[in-house]
Amino acid sequence: MNSLKKILIIGSGQAAIYAASEFRKNDKYSSITIFGNENHHPYERPPLSKEFLMDKKKKDEFLFFSKNFFDDHNVCFINKKIDSVDFKNKYLISFDNKKYFYDKLLITTGSTNRKVEIDKEIDNEIYYLRNLDEANKIKKKASEVNNIAIIGGGFIGLEIASSLNQQNKSVNVIEISNQLMGRIIPSPIANLVKAEHEKNGNKIHLDSKIKSIEKINDAFKILLENDHIIETEMIIGGIGSIPTTDLFNNSDLELKNGILTNKYNQTSVENVYAAGDVSNFYHPLYKKNIRLESYQHAQNQGINAGKNIAGIKSEYLSVPWMWSDQFDLNLQLTGLCDDYHEIIERGVDTENGIIHFFIKDDKIVGACGLGLVGKVGRDIRIASKLIEKQTIIDKKILSDLNQKLNPLLKK
Ligand SMILES: Cc1cc2nc3c(=O)[nH]c(=O)nc-3n(C[C@H](O)[C@H](O)[C@H](O)COP(=O)(O)OP(=O)(O)OC[C@H]3O[C@@H](n4cnc5c(N)ncnc54)[C@H](O)[C@@H]3O)c2cc1C
Repeated sequence: MNSLKKILIIGSGQAAIYAASEFRKNDKYSSITIFGNENHHPYERPPLSKEFLMDKKKKDEFLFFSKNFFDDHNVCFINKKIDSVDFKNKYLISFDNKKYFYDKLLITTGSTNRKVEIDKEIDNEIYYLRNLDEANKIKKKASEVNNIAIIGGGFIGLEIASSLNQQNKSVNVIEISNQLMGRIIPSPIANLVKAEHEKNGNKIHLDSKIKSIEKINDAFKILLENDHIIETEMIIGGIGSIPTTDLFNNSDLELKNGILTNKYNQTSVENVYAAGDVSNFYHPLYKKNIRLESYQHAQNQGINAGKNIAGIKSEYLSVPWMWSDQFDLNLQLTGLCDDYHEIIERGVDTENGIIHFFIKDDKIVGACGLGLVGKVGRDIRIASKLIEKQTIIDKKILSDLNQKLNPLLKK
């Protein structure tokens, strides 16, 4: 039997709570303490830009586990920001200067929104969405205005645009590049998402760089470099995020677009693990390091870290998967879509679902689907399994919407 250990976790999001739960399943007696800096019982973030913003779900409906979780699992939760870590002497220091010693440490500090930098006075007026407090601030302000501009046409910006539109707001989305949601989404799919926003009345400005923002009384005048002017009463920034690693600058922890970890969630420092958005982990299937910001990944990595910290050697092999909901459309992405030889298309419209499969060496490496809710989920799930099994696929079956994909799994 393992001797009793002191396990500390920095961060109280998805990866943390699933790691603690998994650890406890495998080690009933060692102590676990989670440090969070949000004054809330851990909750899911995806509803913040969707159902919560549209008043369709309340906070208590998207908590990870019941409020008794900590007592029931003998997990200690301390609501304190951690300010520094001494890896050599194995302790954390909280903002109020208290020391907490550990035997094993898990870092799950997530990611932080990238800030728009225009001009100091204007920058302070821009809203962001990462946590419940920010979602409440956006809801309150949005209820007082009619016109809202969103800087950034990525997943979160577009979900906010969809939710606020459904609250009868007039929304402008300003995107610097020539397509929505970045290069990982095939442009025909990004264009269908754009058309859905426009059909519902949102104005999407592509190739649009902001030249200046002027505040006039309680409103803003946004001047684009193409001389187009957008007048708005509220600005929300959605220009991506960066891993939350500032705590570890100048430490022994190896950082490179997040905290570098191996397939066992181990970092470069002994007995220190990382999981979720903050980790740039080695994926044995893709044979390279990857950093992901997705719900399923944070959960699965938390579980994997919990196992490894409890002494059960477990490789992290999950195939990446994420989704986004905008208006009536559901977008799903699995695997990696950045290194392929050809794309095979399945379906032609969102009513029946459209999927682009990314193929390398006759195997699927990634897939991106868009359709009315329920139209692409099953095939994307099958694609994830085919990626995991590295199955040689039959391209004719893949491209024919009338043929089911299940038989490919039996190969
Ligand atoms: C608005 C929104 C919508 C999303 N929608 C989707 C979606 O539709 N589909 C999808 O797949 N993914 C979605 N995601 C992404 C998904 O929620 C994240 O990938 C996931 O929450 C990451 O979990 P995590 O545990 O790694 O980090 P987080 O959940 O971000 O948790 C990190 C926690 O650590 C805390 N922390 C940081 N530093 C310290 C410190 N020094 N001391 C103490 N605590 C600290 C943070 O405050 C935070 O509470 C969305 C994210 C957001 C913000």
